[in-house]
Amino acid sequence: MKSHSEHFIILSPIGEIEVSLLSAIAHSIKRIFGFPTQISSLFSDISFAYDNNRNQYNSTQILNQLSTFLPENASKILAITDVDLFIPILTYVYGEAQLGGISAILSVHRLTESTPLINSDAIISERICKEAIHEIGHIFNLKHCKDPACIMHYCRCIGDVDCKSDQLCRYCQILLTDELVKYKKVNNCD
Ligand SMILES: [Zn+2]
Ligand SMILES: [Zn+2]
Repeated sequence: MKSHSEHFIILSPIGEIEVSLLSAIAHSIKRIFGFPTQISSLFSDISFAYDNNRNQYNSTQILNQLSTFLPENASKILAITDVDLFIPILTYVYGEAQLGGISAILSVHRLTESTPLINSDAIISERICKEAIHEIGHIFNLKHCKDPACIMHYCRCIGDVDCKSDQLCRYCQILLTDELVKYKKVNNCD
């Protein structure tokens, strides 16, 4: 039997990701989901997902690989990379997650782009934390939300990310609370 306190989310950096950024993400995860995190690089070679024609990496292929690395006691994995990600139907994605599954991936590649008026590390870190929470929200079964201020809102561009808040709307918060109750039941947490 595992207690809730023993469950944690793995943050798996792929490539060079700043430690301060990883701590900011860890802090946000604790705030929204209540889980501690463990930083552990599960794998670093993602050349298998590289697409020559697009000069980008196929996020779905990386996700499938990630799930096979889930260590015992860890509940979910969020990989963080600096390479540009895509899924075949879209030009690029900030991240991708297995809905109700185990793993998610986030790319900081496009989120670190600066816009003329906004160019501060704090804002970039805030953007990345919002999208990290968004992807983990999907692994806890949350879908896209119409509320443009909700963290589960789907963002088409950096401006959308900057506009939304770093919180779940009331509705998504209720859904998440239910999902966490279910999760704890299945995993014998208190
Ligand atoms: Zn999404
Ligand atoms: Zn919402």
